[in-house]
Amino acid sequence: MNRVGGRQGAFWVLVVLWTSACAQAQAGSARPIKISVDATQAARRVLHSQLEIPATPGPLTVYYPKWLPPDHSPDGPISNVAGLKFSAAGKRIPWLQDSVDMYAFHLNVPRGADSVTVDLDFLLSAPGPAIDFSASGSAKLLILMWSEVLLYPSGPPAANLTFTPTLKLPTGWKFSTALPIDHQSGNSISFRPLPLDLLIDSPVQSGPYMKVFQLTQDGRFRHELDVASEDPSLLNVPPDLIHSYQRLVTEATALYQSHPYREYHFLLTLSDNVMGLGQEHHESSDDRIPARTLIEPGKRLLEAGLFPHEFTHSWNGQFRRPEGLTTPDFQQPMKSDLIWVYEGLTSYLGTILTARSGLWSSAQTRENLAVLASTLEHRAGRNWRSLQNTALAAQVLYFSPSEWTSYRRGTDFYTESVLLWLEVDVTIRKLTQGQRSLDTFCRDFFAGPDGKPAISTYTFDDLVSALNKVAPNDWHKFFHERLAPTEPPPAFRGLTEGGWRLVYNDDPNEMVVAAQEGGSGDFTSSLGLVIKNDGYIQDTVPGMTAYDSGLSPYMKVVGVNGRQFLLAELIQAIHNSKSSAAPITVLASNGGVLETYELNYHGGAAYPHLERVESVNDYLDEILKPLTGPNSTTTAR
Ligand SMILES: [Zn+2]
Repeated sequence: MNRVGGRQGAFWVLVVLWTSACAQAQAGSARPIKISVDATQAARRVLHSQLEIPATPGPLTVYYPKWLPPDHSPDGPISNVAGLKFSAAGKRIPWLQDSVDMYAFHLNVPRGADSVTVDLDFLLSAPGPAIDFSASGSAKLLILMWSEVLLYPSGPPAANLTFTPTLKLPTGWKFSTALPIDHQSGNSISFRPLPLDLLIDSPVQSGPYMKVFQLTQDGRFRHELDVASEDPSLLNVPPDLIHSYQRLVTEATALYQSHPYREYHFLLTLSDNVMGLGQEHHESSDDRIPARTLIEPGKRLLEAGLFPHEFTHSWNGQFRRPEGLTTPDFQQPMKSDLIWVYEGLTSYLGTILTARSGLWSSAQTRENLAVLASTLEHRAGRNWRSLQNTALAAQVLYFSPSEWTSYRRGTDFYTESVLLWLEVDVTIRKLTQGQRSLDTFCRDFFAGPDGKPAISTYTFDDLVSALNKVAPNDWHKFFHERLAPTEPPPAFRGLTEGGWRLVYNDDPNEMVVAAQEGGSGDFTSSLGLVIKNDGYIQDTVPGMTAYDSGLSPYMKVVGVNGRQFLLAELIQAIHNSKSSAAPITVLASNGGVLETYELNYHGGAAYPHLERVESVNDYLDEILKPLTGPNSTTTAR
């Protein structure tokens, strides 16, 4: 839908407000669907759910949620549903799974019945190497994702299906959620009736060890950090981090100047026993990071951008959403052609908010941008797959393995779009002589009904119109020239016209070093190699030394220059390569077959950095400055 170019009237008509949708559903003939989730067996990884779905006699089709908005993929974990039973008036009803669509179930409601009872178990799993949304519980934790424990009838849009949820937790477990609570009795909680899409949008975080931090002391809107961990000692979030999160809320509010939520919860789970995740919702984010992240500097540095990214989604992705990614229920396929805005612009805005809130220094942010640019400069798959295609293929690429990422390309619409939107920001600043910026665009584009979760859709043309209001330009051509090509490598004009250029030298890059300390050796810009600390090769870049030597993903390096493989040995060998005429020799196992590979490389560490170009105005520095406080910028709003 449109909300720009003087069409504000149309905007307000077409905006979907959940509260009004809820009122309509309740006022209509449809009775609410009751859902009761028994999570008392969460520690043994079984959730039981019972639903009472109003129905009339005759054929009925019910769906398990397939396309979840934050996933952009048909990945509802239906294979973890067990014990599915339907009944009416106390009698079992036979059911059939659709022979084509595994997410649809067919049954016949018997005469005289006015509802169907559904019983199902959802089996939680442990995290593995692949994305697994069922890995959301452990002995002392649960993140209840309502989409995993419910079915809904075909027909009405999700916004018109009212649910009345209740939840029973293990004794002594606490909980946090953005869901409004109706009442609580012991470990049983009843939530207020709400539409299906808002229910699915509101996970419940629970466990015996939880702590709450308020991030705003006054103002109309509550912002809360809710921390859960299996280890109570990890709940003491360092005070400087709390201060930065408070700054994040202040800076995001200054940037977006609206609140598309009633209140906001950062549901932070510190655990090694659930899938690592950052998942956006309107009024909360489900943020799961390794248990010790906040107390280990390297991990903390690498994860610093998580909150700014997910919080930004409340505006970009949740409130403003591309038309193709907005579907009436969870059954209809999504089209992700504009995901380079949904995720890409969020990645850019998240990056600058990470800097503006102090979670990263400006220098650390530049190191991060240098790594992004370097990775893209060595992305072999750019010669066959465009940035636009990574967006279109998102539903596949999310689930592609990490191996061969350079040649295949992955979900590059996150990383490449950071530099794309940096260029948009710098271009606006240049076109308007510093009077306007992407901040101006954000203020206009994300303006909306304050204090309510809502969805307002847009098309590519709407986006172009909105940018033209800020700074007239041929934005259509601008984006086409950056999204469509498969040649040549990106020019990084956002960096160069923003006052910086990408260089490589022997000085360690702080982000790369932190990743190495975490067990991941990124030698993309030297050997064209990504390798784990146990020698497992995750990727080689076609056209670069490691690949040319014959090394490839899935091999395991066991020796370097005649010594047993250690990441430190390889780092030293790369460092020494500059002053040695001899190749680096690598002994690697390919499924048990050992072979020696010679890497003729003599370029040294080649860590990526940004170097200041003094002749060009430092737009990047202006962009990274906070909007509030003593160091705030005074230009380009
Ligand atoms: Zn995202």
